[in-house]
Amino acid sequence: MVRVPVRDDLSALEGYHSPQVDVRVRLNTNESPLAPPPEFIAALSREIAGISWNRYPDRTARGLRTALADHHGVHPENVFVANGSNEVIQTLLLTFAGPGRTVATFEPTYQLHAHIARITGARVVESERRPDFSLDPQQVVEVIETSRPHVTFLCSPNNPTGTVDTPEVLERALARSGGLIAVDEAYGQFAPRSALDLLDEETPLVVVRTFSKTWSMAAVRLGYLVGPKWLVAELDKVVLPYHLDAVKQIAGTVALRFAPQMLERVGFLVSERERLVAALNGLDLEVFPSGANFVLFRPRSLPGRHLWQALVDRGVLIRDCSSWPRLSDCLRVTIGSAEENDCFVQSLSDVLKR
Ligand SMILES: *Cc1c(COP(=O)(O)O)cnc(C)c1O
Repeated sequence: MVRVPVRDDLSALEGYHSPQVDVRVRLNTNESPLAPPPEFIAALSREIAGISWNRYPDRTARGLRTALADHHGVHPENVFVANGSNEVIQTLLLTFAGPGRTVATFEPTYQLHAHIARITGARVVESERRPDFSLDPQQVVEVIETSRPHVTFLCSPNNPTGTVDTPEVLERALARSGGLIAVDEAYGQFAPRSALDLLDEETPLVVVRTFSKTWSMAAVRLGYLVGPKWLVAELDKVVLPYHLDAVKQIAGTVALRFAPQMLERVGFLVSERERLVAALNGLDLEVFPSGANFVLFRPRSLPGRHLWQALVDRGVLIRDCSSWPRLSDCLRVTIGSAEENDCFVQSLSDVLKR
């Protein structure tokens, strides 16, 4: 068998893994436990019936961009849409990173920022968060001044830690940055603040969002970015033509009509998060504050990996981050339905009190 060597700079690369185990309670991938409203499914089915299946979809996704622009109070030219926010991030990095360029991340954070940056051939400068996973604004400024990154990733709320950045972090970063600042807000609606208010045509800032988490639509693979018009025009040149199919364009447009129902679901998950955090704080755990639909914690009395396995044995799957750099013994649980959360807390206290 002939094996053709991959690009030299990719030979050491590992793929992105999120193990799937077949268990009763799955709280490992930050999906919503709640389906979108039935009225959404009904409206979507009606509109899909009207698709011209023999034709390519609207290449500019005008309808969807307009609906998103109305939702955020911006212009359609400020909105770029793609197949999940991962494709948004990929397009952003193909456009602004690549060989000879630098991308900055603050670890631990969402692995795909650095991963995709490396695939484009960029150099990645990984800087540290504080031990409580918050960002030190002074350090962010130092990284920007020393490494002069073409793209700097912030992630608020940060995956996998749940940390919400203070406004000072972004304000100071923007004041010093000659490059682009990309704020990944995949969990934006779960948090008390957003970077969307700071966007304007003169600021090299983009905010990336997704339908996967807050909109209960992980199956659809739809994400977007809000940013300056000139930047969105550049992304449109790089992304593949007709990359966004007609079904997806309709799904996003119809979903936006159900924003109040989405916010209701987000409100419920935030209240469940607070209930879960209170329960975790009563156990022998270090619990990190979260503004997202998940909570990171670390057992004090046994290795994280053992706790993770003991939960799997009880039919509860959460994310094992215990072997990831800077996250020793840490586990991340996604907020599920009230029953799933009860089941998780019950199993967790059984294990810890043994
Ligand atoms: C889940 C997640 C994404 C992925 O979003 P998709 O739209 O499903 O591609 C992006 N960023 C962060 C921080 C995430 O946690």
